[in-house]
Parts: sequence; structure tokens; C-alpha cells
Amino acid sequence: MPGTKSDFRQAGQKFASRCSAPCSRRSRRCVCTPSLPAARSALSPLTSPPTFESWQAAIRSSARVSSLQPLELAESPQLDALGESGKHIDAAPNGTLFRFAVISDTHFWLPSRARGDWSSRSDAQPERDGLLVSDSDAILQQLLSQLSHFAASGGSFALHAGDAVCGGGSFHQPPTEYERALRAFREQQTVAFGNWPVFHVPGNHDIDPTEGGLAKWRRILGTSGLGNTSDLEVGYRALRVAPGWRLLLLDSMDGVPHDLDGHGHIGEAQLAWLAAQLDESAAASEQVILAMHQLLVSPVDEGVQETELPGWLDWHGDFVDNRAEVLALLARHSHVRLSFHGHVHANTLTTRHGTVFVTNAAGGEYPMHWREVSVHPCEIRIRTRAIEAPALLEKSRLRDTRPNRNHIKRGEQLANGASVRLPWC
Ligand SMILES: [Zn+2]
Repeated sequence: MPGTKSDFRQAGQKFASRCSAPCSRRSRRCVCTPSLPAARSALSPLTSPPTFESWQAAIRSSARVSSLQPLELAESPQLDALGESGKHIDAAPNGTLFRFAVISDTHFWLPSRARGDWSSRSDAQPERDGLLVSDSDAILQQLLSQLSHFAASGGSFALHAGDAVCGGGSFHQPPTEYERALRAFREQQTVAFGNWPVFHVPGNHDIDPTEGGLAKWRRILGTSGLGNTSDLEVGYRALRVAPGWRLLLLDSMDGVPHDLDGHGHIGEAQLAWLAAQLDESAAASEQVILAMHQLLVSPVDEGVQETELPGWLDWHGDFVDNRAEVLALLARHSHVRLSFHGHVHANTLTTRHGTVFVTNAAGGEYPMHWREVSVHPCEIRIRTRAIEAPALLEKSRLRDTRPNRNHIKRGEQLANGASVRLPWC
């Protein structure tokens, strides 16, 4: 996402939509991944942009492709599906049912003159965010390297919560570079992970910046992780990611052909599909995890009035505009455990009626986090993990000139390490 409308006005910019911007870091310490020497060495401060070929070579050298296996979407032998009561599920010997990674807002753009020009103009603004578009290829390289270790250690899949690239409004990306970025992202996933699945939901910056719509995104990134079963006509999907657990990937750009202000929408047919998925999963005693780009609820404590919104957020540009319809569907059920979102470039976590709503910091901006989610028989553990690129982290921290925004982007302690007790325990 990017800054609020007022941010852009203050910066004297005439962005047609929100783009690169917001969020950031609390002084409290978060939980970070152990040091990964191989991954760390794959990224050093850049003195000049790497070539695409050198970038590919670095990914190949750091990824252990041969050790990865495709996700088992069907029944897994060490797990039992939930019984009729919804209260029984056996854990693997280490007590973890499954683990997955959540990444978001990578805003990937390959090196080019257009990227350099955009970055120069953005760098010259007196008020600016911390998004490192000019380093997005190096950051993605590091992120994929770390995720390859996560996959090799038994992670089941990764989920990208949108804005993988720099399409949509505000970046003014040439159309050929938009498609090139989509293809390079998909290719690098394959280089890093083989068939290990990465699921994507679309964000406003995944929209075709020239033609509008998501046709190219659906064909190139929207099919990621779905094998040959994907239907390119719609952007929403349902997956059984473990016995008793259903992942619903929502298309919150449904009916929003152009990115004018960053907002999201869930279309009528998708609402009907969501209602059916919720009914079916309830009948099957499955638990549900949602993912979509823009927000459904305000990231404030549950006890606070839902009408209250932190000043760094905008009711229109940061949310699904018909979120009330989506929330009304969710309110009819009690088995939606988690809902993951991107867009606001900040770590937040809040609950509403038993569902935990999580927003992710941007991969391409301070605090440069991704999340690891571990599902256990009695709890879900949600933690932030750091992209190990200290020089770029500091560069991004210093780039954001907006008061207190780094603090906000980093998030409160709860948003960086939470344990959700499951109701049957
Ligand atoms: Zn966005």
C-alpha cells in the first residue's frame, strides 16, 4: 500500500492512488529467526543494482531445492482430520500440526531506468515512506532464501497477502516491466522452492497499471501453488492445507479494475462463494483461515469501539469497502480462526468475535518482517521473523520521514508474538 491521502497531500504529490508507504516499528523487541549464515551472506549492502542473472544465480545457490516437497493438500498420514465434535486432532511428534509463512507487500520491481527514475523522484520528497523499491530485488532474494530454509525445515507453504509487485496506481510502472516483474517473481519462487507452494492473493498494486484488471496476475502469480487445477476466471480459491483446516484465498480487488485509491471490494458472486465455503467447512468440522489484501476490521483492541480508527489509517483506502457484508457472513460462524491481511505495511493483531485478524509488515519496508504461523492441537502461535538484511533495514528506517511511523509499522508486542488458544482446549 502507501500512505494516506493526507500523506500525499502533505508531500505535495499527486498520487492517483496509495502506493508505497506507511507503517513501522516499536521499541520493543520482536522475536527473530536464528541467524542463517548462508542466507545472510547472500545479501550484502548494494553498491550497484545486481543484474537479473546474478540475482538468479544467488537464489539458486542459497536454495536447497532438492530437499523440498510439494504440499500435501490431501490427507497427511501423521494427522487425523477433526472428528464430528471438532475437538480432536493428533499432532505430529513435535506437537506441531503444520506451519506456514505469511509474507506481504514485497513491491518487487526489477532494476530498470524507469525504476531508477521513480525511486529518485520518491527519494527527493521531503515526506516519504520507507519502501525500498530500488532494493526490492535484493530484499526478495533474501526473503526467498530464508523461506527456502523454512520450507526445508518442514514448513508447509507460504502465503503472500498481496502487492507482490509495483503495478496499480502511483508507481507509474511501464506495462512491460509490470509483466516482467510478475514473471520474474514466479520464476524465482520456482528456482528457490521447486514445487513447494506459495499462494498469492491480489493487492491493489498487483493490478495491471495500463490495462487494469488482474488477467496477467491471475495467469502468472494467481495460479501459484495450485497445480493444474486453477480456474483463471476468478481470483478466489479454497484449499485444504491440512486435515481439518481450510484456507480461503479471497480476491479483494474483485470489481475494482483500476487502482485509484487503494480500496478493496468483494463482489457479489464471491460473497456467495464465501458463504458456501463457510457453510461447507462448518459442516465438515473444519477450521478456516482467511487471506485478503485490504482490512476487514480496525486494528484496535476488541474492547474499543469498532468505529475508532488509528490516525495513520483511512476508512476508505485501507479497507474492503463492503466489509460489513463480509463480516456479516463471518458472524454466522464460529470456526474462522485467522484472517491475514497486508496493504497497511504494519504489524497489527486484533480479535473480533473469536477471529484473529492479523496485518503484516511489508517485506519491502522497515521492519522487513514476515510471519511464521504454527498450528498446534490447542493453540496457534503467530510470530514475526526478520528478513536478515541489516543494512537495508537501517536504510528503510532512515528513509521514512513521517513522525512515529517506524514505531507504528513495527507494531505492538502482541502483534509480534501471539498465542491463540483454540476453544476446545
Ligand atoms: Zn496495497
